[in-house]
Amino acid sequence: MKFILASSNKHKLEELKLLMPDVEILEANMVEVDENASTFVENALIKAEALYKENNGTPILADDSGLCIKAFDGKPGVKTARYGSKEFGRILESSERNEYLLKNMAGIKDRSASFVCSLVAYFSPNQFYTVTEEVKGHITEKQTKGGGFGYDPVFYIDEVGATAAELTQSEKGKYSHRGKAARTMNKLLKNMKEEI
Ligand code: IMP
Repeated sequence: MKFILASSNKHKLEELKLLMPDVEILEANMVEVDENASTFVENALIKAEALYKENNGTPILADDSGLCIKAFDGKPGVKTARYGSKEFGRILESSERNEYLLKNMAGIKDRSASFVCSLVAYFSPNQFYTVTEEVKGHITEKQTKGGGFGYDPVFYIDEVGATAAELTQSEKGKYSHRGKAARTMNKLLKNMKEEI
């Protein structure tokens, strides 16, 4: 089974290749889309539909993810990628966005948050699977060193006792929102294959 990933994020591509070893995932020439829906799954579908049209019906895998912070009533949520851009007038680099988040959370005691991932395997407008999973954690007091991308340096995964940045890619995948979503999607795709 072959999918084009509806994302220009190389980190997502790397993670998903590792998490979904039974399918082939190709890099996309991602088209501009307006991710203006109010849920992760709808935004993932917007990306999948747009790329599907551009690629003459090749199956598409789409991932929409975001950080939901309890003290901010679940925000930035679907606007996680654009966090701080209104205030700064441009899309921020990951590290400056993390600093901005830490500044906004200064003095906040309850730092609980979750990272959500919606994955869509899109075969046609009438046939697609959607999965949404989350990982619970909290926002650290300062950025931690290590690998990963995006908010990984400030997202502490409660179940592991480390930030996502402090884990290897395969360790992160065992606990992460994307890891959970990919495993559920793997099962759906396996069942689909067996039914054919
Ligand atoms: P989008 O799903 O491409 O819209 O990205 C949402 C935002 O969440 C972007 O700023 C990503 O960098 C960030 N993000 C998505 N997944 C992860 C992750 O696994 N770790 C850290 N940040 C992430």
